Amino acid sequence: SPTIGVLALQGDVREHTAALVEAGAHALPVRRVSELDRVDGIVIPGGESTTMSKLLGVFDLYDPLVDRLRDGLPAYGSCAGMIMLASTILDTRADARHLDALDVTVRRNAFGRQVESFETDLQFAGITDLPGADPMRAVFIRAPWVESVGAGVDVLATVPDGPAAGRVVAVRQRNVLATSFHPEVTGDHRVHRFFVDMVAGA
Ligand code: GLN
Repeated sequence: SPTIGVLALQGDVREHTAALVEAGAHALPVRRVSELDRVDGIVIPGGESTTMSKLLGVFDLYDPLVDRLRDGLPAYGSCAGMIMLASTILDTRADARHLDALDVTVRRNAFGRQVESFETDLQFAGITDLPGADPMRAVFIRAPWVESVGAGVDVLATVPDGPAAGRVVAVRQRNVLATSFHPEVTGDHRVHRFFVDMVAGA
């Protein structure tokens, strides 16, 4: 089974590590380049993207991670992780750096103050469309949404109803997967299994 790193500078590292193990991978917290060198894929967790951006610099991980992503390292970003992977970010700090590995424009804290956090059931292409599969419970916490996608980016999930109906909340471009929501907190490991399969097939 593949070794999948979890960027462990900040955010919900433990939950992703546990979900990856449940999904059949070896999980390795990544704080230094020697650890990054050992992984077949990487998860960038939820947390706070401008803080994570700063810490990537402090830990001298920014350039090595960008290099590995350019070489095709499979990556999965959840919430702040989605923001980190995106090519364009709206409503962030001017000095926040990001990884530019996914051709999407993401709006940070997009769902607004009134609905900072919410949950919904949604359909996820490649997962909930399998025979007999249930919809997926999605937990959003000060989440971004994907405002627009480039060519070659597949939309895998949108918000089904309510004021944000139709907003894009899961995307994939080749080896890079991102969700606005937090599958690591629900006990449903299907997104992690989907990513483990991506890594195994890469
Ligand atoms: N709002 C956070 C950010 O801008 C993301 C929130 C999360 O990861 N749960 O980075």
